[in-house]
Amino acid sequence: MNMYADILVQIKSKQVDSTFTYEVPEALKEEIKIGKRVLVPFGSQKLEGYVLNLKDTCSIKTKRIIEIIDETPVLNEELLSLGKQIQEETLCSLSAIYSSMLPKALKAKAGVKINKKMVSYLFLAENKETILESTSSKAVQNILELFNESAQVLKKEANKVSSSAVKTLLKKGFLKEIESEEYRYHPSNSMTEEKKKLNEEQEWAYKKILESQKNQIFLLHGVTGSGKTEVYLQVIEEVLKRGNTALVLVPEISLTPQFVSRFESRFKGSIAVLHSSLSDGERYDEYRKILREEVSIVIGTRSAIFAPLKNIGIIILDEEHSSTYKQENNPKYHAIEVAKLRSKYHKCPLVLGSATPTLNTLARALKKIYVYLPLTKRAASSSLPEVHLIDMEAEMKSRHPILSRELECKMIEALSKNEQILLLLNRRGHSTTITCSNCGFTYRCPNCNITLTYHKTSKNARCHYCGYTKYVEDTCPNCKEKSLNYYGLGTEKLEDYLENVFPTARILRMDADTTVKKGEYEKMITAFYNHEYDILLGTQMISKGLDFKNVSIVGILNADASLNIPDYKSNETTYALLSQASGRAGRAKTKGEVYIQTFYKENYVLKCVQKHDYLAFAKYEMKIRQTLKYPPYYYLVLISIKSKYYEEAIKEAKKVKEYLSNHVSSQTIILGPALSGTPMVNKIYHFEILTKYKKDDKIKPTLKELDEIYLTNHKVQIDYDFYH
Ligand code: ADP
Ligand code: ZN
Repeated sequence: MNMYADILVQIKSKQVDSTFTYEVPEALKEEIKIGKRVLVPFGSQKLEGYVLNLKDTCSIKTKRIIEIIDETPVLNEELLSLGKQIQEETLCSLSAIYSSMLPKALKAKAGVKINKKMVSYLFLAENKETILESTSSKAVQNILELFNESAQVLKKEANKVSSSAVKTLLKKGFLKEIESEEYRYHPSNSMTEEKKKLNEEQEWAYKKILESQKNQIFLLHGVTGSGKTEVYLQVIEEVLKRGNTALVLVPEISLTPQFVSRFESRFKGSIAVLHSSLSDGERYDEYRKILREEVSIVIGTRSAIFAPLKNIGIIILDEEHSSTYKQENNPKYHAIEVAKLRSKYHKCPLVLGSATPTLNTLARALKKIYVYLPLTKRAASSSLPEVHLIDMEAEMKSRHPILSRELECKMIEALSKNEQILLLLNRRGHSTTITCSNCGFTYRCPNCNITLTYHKTSKNARCHYCGYTKYVEDTCPNCKEKSLNYYGLGTEKLEDYLENVFPTARILRMDADTTVKKGEYEKMITAFYNHEYDILLGTQMISKGLDFKNVSIVGILNADASLNIPDYKSNETTYALLSQASGRAGRAKTKGEVYIQTFYKENYVLKCVQKHDYLAFAKYEMKIRQTLKYPPYYYLVLISIKSKYYEEAIKEAKKVKEYLSNHVSSQTIILGPALSGTPMVNKIYHFEILTKYKKDDKIKPTLKELDEIYLTNHKVQIDYDFYH
């Protein structure tokens, strides 16, 4: 009987899905399985593709599969169907979705070949006495001594003693050699932490989660330090006892090494870790630990939501409000949405944890779609820090534009008591604008038309969108006068400033520029933790999940920058950032104080941060969202129209709007087209149309039609971003 396979062919440079039927040759019938990758002829090329379906009839003439790539399927039944559901939700191509599910080494068309790391072990094939009778070599004796401690010895170690003796012993058959695989990644298990007795609120949350029979969703809402992680750990312990596995997502693992260590110390050896700062080889190994069912817990960042764990008993997303859970490029999936689909499949609970849940999540919890589990106090008895709002208008007048007098005084006091200080400035580089005071010349990016940020260490000006870099001369490139001015405050300038004001303090700067090297972040954090520095200044990477016992003062220098971002979520993200940064103060005995410098002292977001009252903030913000027709009251889809040609982009954007207006429900609001917040990046113009709707069955079919229409237009690219 004939056999045919539907193959999703991975065509380079094409965002569209192309499934074609191929004949399965006799010799491959046994081996072929759905979810494996194969090599097929395509025009004059050979391309990779995924086997989606097998069948025994086909009405058209077909080509034959060339070879099968995988021993075992890389996509199991769950992931295959998950991909199709994500495609329905995001309208992205299925092949892009499958690709993002897999580590690089297993992606079709990735073109990288990663090998297993093999190591050789030696073991004795005869007993020692027999071997020693045959020789009087000292080297042989030394090698045999290695076997006193264990039956297997790394060949590498034996070679160090004498490689020629090893060779001889192998040749004579006295030693045997075996190769076995060694995993590359070793978590640091520097920490030991005991299990705590849960307090009443934690206990309640723990019970509710474990009682849940089906795919119930929980919001675990508690300030930093309220014991959310302790709840996760104990829930997982029980889930594993029941014979199930656990999937845990965190925003960025490299930023939360303490989190992983805590898991390692409780569940030694049963964890695989998946995140972007692993090497390709390490990630490949971690992935195969999961496939081989050698681990029962996976901790990872966004794409770990696709980890091929079987029998999942719990899915946890910590810091569920984090923007890193949404992929910015295609496929634009949100890890929470994928988590919901997987929890449905596995009939297991999903826990969303946060101190500042998104208003979407909170609204669903308040409407009882999710179960609301509040943790209202800090677990280890330290109280929440006192938050002060400092009016920077007055400080500007008295010439203290960088550090207010109050914060400076408090810093001096803290330093004299040998306490540590954290300063958050969410902007890297030295200064944000370089302008000539003589002729008005300003350094701008030729690709993106934004001002270039000055980086003092490298003496160059850089575009933070596209990476364009220009060396900065001492004189103005336009009028040749020595009159360049450096405006705007970045972390480098702040560092200079602090070194002047606090000449004896030990100052550490952390931002994307000082932490490029692998492992640098962890090193710096550890050094600050061990009090090798007094002041830590940095971008938001210093605000996350860190637990410093000796920090008494937290200063937030430009809270307003985040408030002024033109995005409907800017209040929400500002609250999250400020409360997360504030949470770093007073984690232990020292009482914490937080100083927020602002020009908007009366702003309600800041007022609520000051009172630690997230629910009050949320209530207020919800009203605004309702009035302005934003989530959680409306769904949004942002349609991007991009082109190298300005005229073409605007023309097509107008056509898209018209098409939408003619096809979707009349209740749906269509705004735009307008130039996007980043109007030009890398010489590509970017227009947007924003669509708001409550219920509109016609939206997705219409967008799909538009997709088809623009498939053949090579001048304009169109794509969608859904906000649920
Ligand atoms: P979160 O994840 O909400 O920030 P953690 O679980 O990290 O909170 O807890 C904060 C601190 O309180 C940790 O040092 C933790 O060991 C401790 N802790 C958590 N729960 C308890 C408890 N029930 N009793 C005593 N200490 C606790
Ligand atoms: Zn640029």
